[in-house]
Amino acid sequence: MLVPAHVFREYDIRGVADQELTDDLIRATGEAFGLALFDGAEGRSKLTVAVGRDCRLSSPRIFEAFCKGLMRAGVDVVDVGVGPTPLLYFAVHHLDADGGVMITGSHNAGHENGLKMMKGKAPFFADDIRRLRDRVALPLSEPTRNPGSVRSVDVSQAYIDRVTAGIDLSSSGLSVVVDGGNGSAGPLGVAAIRKVGLEPEALYCDMDGTFPNHHPDPTVLSNLTALVSRVKDSKASVGIAWDGDGDRLGAIDRTGEVVWGDKLMVLFARDVLSRHPGAAILGEVKCSQTLYDDIKKRGGRAILWKTGHSNIKTKMKEEGALLAGEMSGHLFFADDYFGYDDAIYGTLRLLQILARSGKTTGELLADLPRTFVTPELRVDCPDDLKFEVVERVKNRFREHHEVVEVDGARIMFGDGAWGLVRASNTGAILVLRFEAKSEARRDELRAEVERVVAEERKALAG
Ligand SMILES: [Zn+2]
Repeated sequence: MLVPAHVFREYDIRGVADQELTDDLIRATGEAFGLALFDGAEGRSKLTVAVGRDCRLSSPRIFEAFCKGLMRAGVDVVDVGVGPTPLLYFAVHHLDADGGVMITGSHNAGHENGLKMMKGKAPFFADDIRRLRDRVALPLSEPTRNPGSVRSVDVSQAYIDRVTAGIDLSSSGLSVVVDGGNGSAGPLGVAAIRKVGLEPEALYCDMDGTFPNHHPDPTVLSNLTALVSRVKDSKASVGIAWDGDGDRLGAIDRTGEVVWGDKLMVLFARDVLSRHPGAAILGEVKCSQTLYDDIKKRGGRAILWKTGHSNIKTKMKEEGALLAGEMSGHLFFADDYFGYDDAIYGTLRLLQILARSGKTTGELLADLPRTFVTPELRVDCPDDLKFEVVERVKNRFREHHEVVEVDGARIMFGDGAWGLVRASNTGAILVLRFEAKSEARRDELRAEVERVVAEERKALAG
């Protein structure tokens, strides 16, 4: 079968649903995925895989096709229905399944869709996906196992019981506005908040796979305008936004200011360290230096790691880290939870912190040193050049500066100032970000790094 290479990506499978994710391709992918799981489960004659899907219009079709492939491989399918990605992760733990697949386009446009996969409770990614792609490209062979079956299991009540366990905010006086972006987290998330004793004001919390109100991506400011104005108008304690499949959390302070992922991490890290002194906590290369400094200051072991939820989950296990997070709002709790990114659970943890302290997010963060950061800057760069450009940038700056190389180049300019240049795993772009103690210093460093990037790109292209 002809396999479009860009559909099989580093962390997941993604494409334009009606053109790229055809029934044939998805069915073959389901079968190849099932066979890959059998390869890793020597001696087992039966395997169970939980499959969930988001509310996109193409999700039922892709679900059908994928499950046909899985069953042909001999896998028994547990259909956990429509919901957010963390519900599927939960199902794999709760049912002790041999793997999991979430059919979701995450925060992407409505006409796109994709697959996030798990082998056992670990992410199925990178080389796993490359081998899967190679297998899909081969002609179908005759099945060697009896076909699998499919049954439906509703784990949503068990999920809500688990994420709300031990949390009672009924006397907190908190008021919360929630924007579900018409994605798959809305109904379950609102039910979870009600269960802990709060009545949220719900914006766009009904599922609608056409996303009629705004794109379900809380990392883009323009998607947060309705939420910001409702928080300000109603003087709510906090605003909460979930992405299309509920694995990313966005938050709005009472003042209407966005609390980005690295600032949320400061709040969660302090909370975790108060109960687990010395805990290891992971951030990624785009996070503010103030996060790492704050973790260290409070006796934690701060680890700066690669971007990408699969990388982070894997590293968390290796290091025994109790918390991890990304700028994008993927937040992973392993102190009292399973260690996967769950924005509904993250919401409850944030509300709990606000209730205990009696403060707003802004008040809690007021003691952080003030720094000036750029947003994530994206510079177009062809796929075949981007990694080499980053290598050359590293070499240029290494002469005079410390360069942290876990993921791209994080150039440390001293006095807490840094600049990042990394090649995106998901597009023909370089991602840049800068932070310094003054605006002038930040802009000066940005200009310097951008000039070097442009020079090296030109040298390579020429
Ligand atoms: Zn997502």
